[in-house]
Amino acid sequence: MDKQSLFVQVANLEERIGELYMELGTLKHTIQELIEENQRLRRENEHFQAESVGKSTKPELGSAQENLWRIYREGFHICNVKYGSLRTEGECLFCLSFIERA
Ligand SMILES: [Zn+2]
Repeated sequence: MDKQSLFVQVANLEERIGELYMELGTLKHTIQELIEENQRLRRENEHFQAESVGKSTKPELGSAQENLWRIYREGFHICNVKYGSLRTEGECLFCLSFIERA
């Protein structure tokens, strides 16, 4: 087999992988934004529902700390460093210390 053309093929493949990698990164970023937006909208919706229900009966909303825990366990930051963004790197020490103080 022609070594020169083999090298060219591998170089082309490397370039395509590089492009795919960048595309993957963009998609990952878009998905992250969508998840965060979805979470924001859900919170807003819960808030509005609680408000409209609150006019007739008082709903059990749970303590502020419980709500923070729930949001955190669903995978979002609640610390003031990255509030509302998706936790992509496991536990966050800022969030954990924030919950402790809440
Ligand atoms: Zn955090």
